[in-house]
Amino acid sequence: MNESPALIVGGGPVGLSLALGLARQGVRSTLFEAKAEPDPHSRALGIMPRTLEIFRSWGIYDRFLAEGVLLTRVNVWIAGQTKPAAQIGLGAFARLSAVPGVLVLPQDRTEALLLEAVKAGGLTETMVGHQALSFEQDGNGVSLRVSSPDGAVQTYRGRYLVGCDGAHSMVRKSLGWELVGKTYPTRVMLADVRLRDERDQLPWPRLAPVRNLALAALRYQPECWRIISTLEQGETEQTALENSAIDRRVSLLFGPGTYEHLWSNVFQIHCRTSPHFRHGSVLIAGDAAHINSPAGGQGMNSGIQDVHNLAWKLARILAGAETEPLLASYQVERRAAVINNVDRYTDFLTRFGLFAPSLVQKAFGALVRNGPRLGLISFFAPKIGMLDADYRNSPIVSGIGAWVGRRAPDGDLIAPDGSSLRLSDLAGPQPVLLLFDDGRLPGWDVARVAQSFAGIHDLKIVPLLSSQAAKRTDAYCDASSKGSLWNSWKVAGGLAALIRPDGFVGWTGHRPFPLELERGVRRALGA
Ligand SMILES: Cc1cc2nc3c(=O)[nH]c(=O)nc-3n(C[C@H](O)[C@H](O)[C@H](O)COP(=O)(O)OP(=O)(O)OC[C@H]3O[C@@H](n4cnc5c(N)ncnc54)[C@H](O)[C@@H]3O)c2cc1C
Repeated sequence: MNESPALIVGGGPVGLSLALGLARQGVRSTLFEAKAEPDPHSRALGIMPRTLEIFRSWGIYDRFLAEGVLLTRVNVWIAGQTKPAAQIGLGAFARLSAVPGVLVLPQDRTEALLLEAVKAGGLTETMVGHQALSFEQDGNGVSLRVSSPDGAVQTYRGRYLVGCDGAHSMVRKSLGWELVGKTYPTRVMLADVRLRDERDQLPWPRLAPVRNLALAALRYQPECWRIISTLEQGETEQTALENSAIDRRVSLLFGPGTYEHLWSNVFQIHCRTSPHFRHGSVLIAGDAAHINSPAGGQGMNSGIQDVHNLAWKLARILAGAETEPLLASYQVERRAAVINNVDRYTDFLTRFGLFAPSLVQKAFGALVRNGPRLGLISFFAPKIGMLDADYRNSPIVSGIGAWVGRRAPDGDLIAPDGSSLRLSDLAGPQPVLLLFDDGRLPGWDVARVAQSFAGIHDLKIVPLLSSQAAKRTDAYCDASSKGSLWNSWKVAGGLAALIRPDGFVGWTGHRPFPLELERGVRRALGA
């Protein structure tokens, strides 16, 4: 029988990201993808800063940057006008993260780049054209029946099975779970068109001011545009896809001219989540576990963030860490992040930006236009960039302080030897214990701390400059931000913080006692 530590069903962006995340942790996996050929459609167009941070930690950020367009400001144009209606700077991202914007790249290219990295990683067996049929789990793992391209059915065995098999997930349905939530009453038409955009001279995103119709276009590649539209009164799913309906929308957005129709469809939009993300040794992630409105562009991104959360936990469990708390934390953390962050935000944008009556849409538009002046962009940047997940209620997160359970604030730190460290470069694939103030904790020194964690072989212990010296030299200071990391951590010295392999703060303590520190760190890592 074929055996693997992790079986992954589905080779979309989420399955591929899981394979890559596991490989970065040194874990082998086998991935089954039913389709024989890659999906050529553009689908998700935006990669958010948090996902780009993940790609950066996997060493593939530069490859993505070279292919996509990094948006650091957005000028919103109304068709026919000569000046942008709104100029939205995304500089807030540079103050929060090592990645300063949103990357525009069609999903087929995202998948191709992820697959390239998975293959280069050398730890994933990729079984294309193989459809997973059913599975059974027992005390030692999972048996998966798979049909191969020649029709033969084989059984594969894994310690864990992860269903990344999309909205109609066989894995989720076999566990008896439905996606629960709501379907919006109105449908949305998406169309991709190719047209001459005069060497980047046609500005975007573009909106067309039409009563009772939300109509916008984004450029996702030179000469390739995505049209997003609600349906007009009296339009049906069929008539909205007729050539005349698409002609009208293209002409409203771009004026008269020729274009090539690449693809179009009318979609129902949902906001739905599975009641559970895990049963025993079987887990689900991405669209298999939750689906959202495309408004805000967080669907694919949240799936990639699911598996970034899961990969390090599976790796530690396979290396002997405690199974229960780590696997339970996956469901608690990610389900809450989807419901509290992704659902609320995309639902808000959908109701007020897409489907609201004209008057409300106008008011919403005015708010967006005036957003930069009112400071709304800085305020909403963590939400837009998906940097705001909060895992405080997780069973493995403990300690005190504002950052517990949140993504560690990024910035430069100064080591005692004066060298500069970027915080986001420290965590992953290993966990990091930051000892602010040179690690001068009561009754401890760094060597003693290291000794107490001898069993956690990969824990990096990083002492940082003392508080007084830090204040004198402006250390911990992120050059691009007004505040300093020292201020954002709100420490007066003596802080210890455990940064998990996914960059989240698993525990913090202020001048902790030895036992407190050891307990917090072990709990965060299931050690
Ligand atoms: C038209 C369109 C526009 C979109 N726009 C956006 C956007 O702007 N922003 C955004 O964030 N998201 C967008 N999305 C959503 C985004 O595409 C999904 O969130 C994303 O693809 C989810 O990735 P996934 O890997 O979870 O699932 P999928 O991409 O659905 O991948 C699942 C994979 O599993 C395979 N599979 C299924 N069953 C089996 C089986 N039994 N055995 C083996 N393989 C199997 C499938 O063939 C598929 O390749 C859009 C989607 C569509 C359709």
